[in-house]
Amino acid sequence: MAIDAAVRIESRAAFFDGVKCDGPETMLIGWVIHPISLSHKPILKKMSSGGYTVINYFDAPDIKERLRDIVELLRFHHIDMDRLLCVRSTKSQSQGTIARIHGLGRIWQHAMKCKPTYIVEVLSERFDELNREQQNWTLIHELLHIPKNFGGGFLHHKNHVNKQNVEIWYTRYRQKLEEL
Ligand SMILES: [Zn+2]
Repeated sequence: MAIDAAVRIESRAAFFDGVKCDGPETMLIGWVIHPISLSHKPILKKMSSGGYTVINYFDAPDIKERLRDIVELLRFHHIDMDRLLCVRSTKSQSQGTIARIHGLGRIWQHAMKCKPTYIVEVLSERFDELNREQQNWTLIHELLHIPKNFGGGFLHHKNHVNKQNVEIWYTRYRQKLEEL
């Protein structure tokens, strides 16, 4: 595993400084993602000749359980855990990305006659190298992108999922944990 900048980041403040929130981008048809990235680029892996790697996906029940705990503690009752899926990926070529949230677009919901669904994807090479505090902060960041109507869309970074708001909810999470 490549040495990642995040591994050497010890304080949460330093971690915040090293995180940037990219704007929304459309990655696959019907899915919009919100990535959270390290602006300090990790040492790039040199790809072997051939030039590209294929991203691998794995179920992430550990992430699901952690999200469930966060949702319960913060009373995010608008989040339907049955429709919040969790995936761990490897070999993504999104340089620096730690995690991202995907939402099923409305046209897919209509055509496939399915309800809004979200996927929290953690990118193993970076997420798993963070300490637990940084991971929780990242997971709360992703949850805050989900709007109250749980409709498949997103709350965006500028006015909603900014460092100030994530910090408020993260602090609340820590307080609730201590009350247990
Ligand atoms: Zn974000």
